Amino acid sequence: MGIVERLSQIVSPERVSTHPDQLSVVSQDESTLEGVIPRAVVWATSSDEISRIVVACRESKTPLTTRGAGSALEGSTIPLAEGIVLDLSRMTRVLDFWPEDLQVRVEPGIIYDHLNLKLKDEGLFFPPAPGGSGDIATVGGMVSTNASGIYSVKYGATREYVLALEIITGTGEIITLGNRSVKRSSGYNLIDLMAGSEGTLAVISAVTLKLAGLPEGRLQTAYRFDDEISAARAVSEMCRYGLDLAAVEFLDRALVQALNQLKDYGLDEVPCLFLEFHGPQPVLQSNSELAESICNDLGGSKLVLADGQRPWEIRHFATDAVKHRKPGYAIIRNDVAFPISALPEIVAYCHELGNEHGLLIHAFGHVGLGLLHALILADRGDPDQWRRANEVSDMIIKKTLRRGGTISGEHGIGLGHKNLFEMEHGPAVALMRGIKNQFDPDHILNPGKIFDL
Ligand SMILES: Cc1cc2nc3c(=O)[nH]c(=O)nc-3n(C[C@H](O)[C@H](O)[C@H](O)COP(=O)(O)OP(=O)(O)OC[C@H]3O[C@@H](n4cnc5c(N)ncnc54)[C@H](O)[C@@H]3O)c2cc1C
Repeated sequence: MGIVERLSQIVSPERVSTHPDQLSVVSQDESTLEGVIPRAVVWATSSDEISRIVVACRESKTPLTTRGAGSALEGSTIPLAEGIVLDLSRMTRVLDFWPEDLQVRVEPGIIYDHLNLKLKDEGLFFPPAPGGSGDIATVGGMVSTNASGIYSVKYGATREYVLALEIITGTGEIITLGNRSVKRSSGYNLIDLMAGSEGTLAVISAVTLKLAGLPEGRLQTAYRFDDEISAARAVSEMCRYGLDLAAVEFLDRALVQALNQLKDYGLDEVPCLFLEFHGPQPVLQSNSELAESICNDLGGSKLVLADGQRPWEIRHFATDAVKHRKPGYAIIRNDVAFPISALPEIVAYCHELGNEHGLLIHAFGHVGLGLLHALILADRGDPDQWRRANEVSDMIIKKTLRRGGTISGEHGIGLGHKNLFEMEHGPAVALMRGIKNQFDPDHILNPGKIFDL
């Protein structure tokens, strides 16, 4: 019996598809990498079904790529042609809720924004909002990429919120990692291995999350600077002063121009910082005063937004604005992270490279975490420009690694950044291969992602 027939026996036949339209949808993620049409897609609705699907794949040596919403940006959700896609987007239930403990247990397919909507009535939230994709990204996908967002400078990334996971390994075994204790010194931390493993170690079938209380008050503000270096220095200074930032986003001049072109915001086309503070009124006041004096010292001044304009709504359109700038061009994306002191140097380096190679580079990101996205626009139809743009992207990554940073602060490695993975991790990659073998001895779970086996 072929794998498609076996899948139809495990779940009901209407939850398995080989229809070209449905295969086309699951062939891609949100990266600019080429999609790959798999043999079939199967929608599971329980841990037991997932386990039986994994066993069927193991016995038939069929690669399996787990999919949440497919919003990943580095090709980690792109399947293999000989493989199947395990789609968990129908597993959206809240399994348990313990508001008094600030904890919730959910199925992996629940969407980030939907979960927060359910938590709101109890005054709670799951903080690591993945900025532009909170309305589609699933909690399982967020754990698998260790997603972070604008509020991670204050509250941390997804990893910091995972208390327990139910996983299904590459042998089909269902195992629970962790428990509901928020502090543990009990053995190896296997949850941390899962966070960021991009579906290569196990399928996550349930997630127990720690939550945070909704802040009493919020204050959003924005500053403009004459140059990118001063804006970057202001962030460094705010961190040095221990300013309690809930969010600090950097937008370079090129991105502000792109946003104006997309939405006609009428923003001053200069580098900006968007800030948010959380807490009671007096705390908001004192934090914003300190931020203002640091920004002023570095030549910055308040950015006046038109009535009704809110910083995060503007920031939400960053990627769309870059895409819109040169229709037909593709985005080569960077997601580097580094010690905060390197921020001015890396921002300057991105702009130097852009000028030197005649490329449009937009730099922005959750800079309080030292995280920067450098989006390079290039024409795939112009092989010379495409090659140069990819080289420039690698140069930015290599510079980051020399400054003690990482290839990926939040999007993962997937297929997009595999080429430089060994450069970052060296002999540790051999240890990672050993761990992969323990979890997935037949290499059926999302093979070929992160590193080669
Ligand atoms: C406009 C836009 C803005 C974005 N902004 C941010 C941002 O600010 N911060 C950020 O971190 N990311 C951001 N992203 C990237 C993306 O939204 C995140 O990586 C998100 O966590 C992916 O969730 P998903 O459900 O779409 O996962 P998918 O794309 O479906 O999967 C991602 C990876 O996880 C694996 N996976 C998914 N579910 C499971 C599971 N249950 N068990 C095991 N493996 C699984 C997949 O195999 C794949 O390797 C953005 C994306 C877009 C399109």
